[in-house]
Amino acid sequence: MLKYCKTAVTELKGQIFEQKRVRFVVKREDQNHPSVSGNKWWKLKYNLEEAIKNNQNTILTFGGAYSNHIYATAAAARELGLRSIGIIRGEETLPLNETLKFARAHGMELHHVARAFYRTKTSQPFLDELRKEFGDFYLIPEGGTNELAVKGCAEFARLLNQEAQVDYLCLAVGTGGTIAGMIEGFDRSKKILGFPVLKGAAFLEAEIKRFTTKRNWELLYDYHAGGYAKTNSALIKFIGEFEENYKLPLDPVYTGKMMWGMFDLLQNGYFPPGSTVLVLHTGGLQGRLGFNF
Ligand SMILES: *Cc1c(COP(=O)(O)O)cnc(C)c1O
Repeated sequence: MLKYCKTAVTELKGQIFEQKRVRFVVKREDQNHPSVSGNKWWKLKYNLEEAIKNNQNTILTFGGAYSNHIYATAAAARELGLRSIGIIRGEETLPLNETLKFARAHGMELHHVARAFYRTKTSQPFLDELRKEFGDFYLIPEGGTNELAVKGCAEFARLLNQEAQVDYLCLAVGTGGTIAGMIEGFDRSKKILGFPVLKGAAFLEAEIKRFTTKRNWELLYDYHAGGYAKTNSALIKFIGEFEENYKLPLDPVYTGKMMWGMFDLLQNGYFPPGSTVLVLHTGGLQGRLGFNF
């Protein structure tokens, strides 16, 4: 199995928290592994176990050029002695960015495909083509979300139940797999808040409901800052000030937007006085390289 380091919970201390009588405790899951970090560790766990159980020694997956999922999958496959293939959206641009350089250095075979073709990646002809080219493989979807990913995240949530007494749990949302697992595993008397990082994310409600029937959750759609991997000056300013004040690194694609949203809710009195919120640091810090952070 993949190495796992147990991670700490640290409370944010500052005037705003005293004023509002609300506590934010951050689960530093970004530190659970040097490179298969955060939620990606939990999403990959049962997928890799399943591949190995089926004597499948090749993992094939999909992602954009800055994808945390590609980065994590390459490192995890290398650690477990599996072959990995990454189908990357869009034409290759050289030199490779830091994410793809890392993936290749960890043995991932990178195959760039034009965007129009990439869009058909779940179609049978596309997959047949890939099998012809690479032989048999264990397929992990783009972003890594499937039943086994949700199962891994649910396990993580059950561990968290034992570790922290809180009223809310919050996290960044991309494809929805991680939050679905957290909802499944977390105590149903607590509320789970998700911050979609992409624009037009209303489809996520149905996506999450594919994996869970529980209803103690809410998505907050106003903190995407223009869309996936987009930023604006308010977000960048927030991340700079946050890191200065709390000495805790955020990434601009996921955790930065989530924390930006959390502070906005806090300022606006969303959390009743006396509440404790468990804030999930899902990792993604490798993504800072692409933004010159
Ligand atoms: C991938 C990722 C997410 C989103 O996970 P989903 O399961 O796709 O919703 C959140 N935070 C970080 C840091 C990520 O890398």
